[in-house]
Amino acid sequence: MTIQEIIKKSLQEVKRRGVTLSPDVYEEIFCQQAKKANVIVEDCQKLEKYLKRLSPDLQKTVKSRHVSTVDQLVQYLASEVMRRADSAKTSEVIQAYVLLVKRLLQAVALYRDGKATAMADRDKEKIAAYLTREEIDKIREHWTAFVVEFDDSFLQKLALRCGTEGKELREIIEAADRCLQSGKAPMAELEAVGQLLVASLVPSIAPEADDELAAVSEEIRDNPEMLTSPGVWEDVKRAIRRRIELDKEAVTTQMSELDSIIEHINQALIRVIDCGESNHEAICAIQGELDGLDLQSDSFEVIHKKLLAIASSLEIETRMLSEEMNKSKEEVHQLQQRVRLLEQALRQERKRSATDTLTKLPNRRAIDDFLAKQEAAFNRYGDNYSVVIFDIDHFKSVNDTYGHDAGDVILASFGKMLRRYSREIDFVGRWGGEEFLVVLPKTDLEGAKVFAEKLRDVVSKSKFMYKNTRIPITASGGVAERASNPGLQETLKRADENLYRAKAGGRNRVEG
Ligand code: GH3
Ligand code: MG
Ligand code: MG
Repeated sequence: MTIQEIIKKSLQEVKRRGVTLSPDVYEEIFCQQAKKANVIVEDCQKLEKYLKRLSPDLQKTVKSRHVSTVDQLVQYLASEVMRRADSAKTSEVIQAYVLLVKRLLQAVALYRDGKATAMADRDKEKIAAYLTREEIDKIREHWTAFVVEFDDSFLQKLALRCGTEGKELREIIEAADRCLQSGKAPMAELEAVGQLLVASLVPSIAPEADDELAAVSEEIRDNPEMLTSPGVWEDVKRAIRRRIELDKEAVTTQMSELDSIIEHINQALIRVIDCGESNHEAICAIQGELDGLDLQSDSFEVIHKKLLAIASSLEIETRMLSEEMNKSKEEVHQLQQRVRLLEQALRQERKRSATDTLTKLPNRRAIDDFLAKQEAAFNRYGDNYSVVIFDIDHFKSVNDTYGHDAGDVILASFGKMLRRYSREIDFVGRWGGEEFLVVLPKTDLEGAKVFAEKLRDVVSKSKFMYKNTRIPITASGGVAERASNPGLQETLKRADENLYRAKAGGRNRVEG
């Protein structure tokens, strides 16, 4: 099993247990999973490593307490120390420490540093088992200050001059003595300067020096005497600048690598959030892992490793989720598309079945629907309406004289004319053959007769043309209002009777 899979398993286990994902919980579960998978992870062996350093007795007690994490071990040991501190042995131990400190102060006096010797002499007398906490702190403070301020650069000067590198003062002095007596100082000095320069040419952050730097370093190491020629110093200065550049570059690329990983995680988080509510747990888990990062104290490598682990576990999580989401999104999209097409087809079909193809006006069926609505409004609110049936006069002879095609053109033009001269709310339809019906909502008989008369007049004065031939057309109209009749059918019948009267009365007339 790979580390990634163990990480993934650990995250699932965290979810299953329903615990909050802190770095400690994660480490514990991760190590359990690694053990289960028989994978040895060095970080998980810490407990065993620490245990081995304890005395066998203590190891036994620790094991009997079921200590399973480093945290628990520290807790146990801390309580053990507290317990033991209470014992009678404590004062014996303190006595021993006091004695030890006195001896150490005597030793300091041997180092021949005036200030240290004076301080040691003073404190030797003061140190006793009954010192108060404040007195101990004071002594500790001035010794700490002494150590911090102690400047041994005088020894480095000696090291530069004679190449003395021993750790012991005695060795350093003896080596310096030898070098001064042999008169080799100048060369040794150059070598030492050379070493310093080489050290300063090795980038501290960039993994390696590039070729140019390596060459300069090698030359200095091999021929320190060339440092005496002034030209070389320019090379060295340039090389040092270059080395700083390299360090800067290294920091920049490392930071941008970090940036890209964080960006990657952000993207993955957004994907999880996009996948909806159900992934709340996944987001919490990832958030927990991110919170576990300590950007202040973790090193770049540690952060880098942790981020990569988070990113890859997130990757697996979100890939599955987004695949599912995309699949269902695609299905929903296809369904929507189909529904849209079906609706469109349905709309067209409805329109077709309600429209007369020749005149493009509503057909008999559509007229019936509209009349039914008017009738319902009349019954419920008492809204009156009127109907006018127009019939083109002697249309048979139009067909006979000019042809059926001419008749068709006239029918279409007649329909358009009715539409153009009616109100928006009026309903104009083809009633059948050369008969048209106009429904006039909220209009009484008088108003309907005015309308019918106006239309009759317009028709009789219009020029109906077919292939450059003017065809004279007149029409007759029969009008009826709903309020004067017992029902819709009776109203239509009355309009039809009035139309018959108009025909009988000589045509090109309106009766109502
Ligand atoms: P009247 O003045 O009494 O109404 O005489 P008319 O000739 O108009 O009446 P009739 O009912 O005798 O004839 C109607 C004619 O209308 C007969 C038919 O051929 C014609 N017609 C009906 N529908 C169409 C059509 O769609 N196109 C054409 N070109 N003619 C049609
Ligand atoms: Mg007719
Ligand atoms: Mg007719």
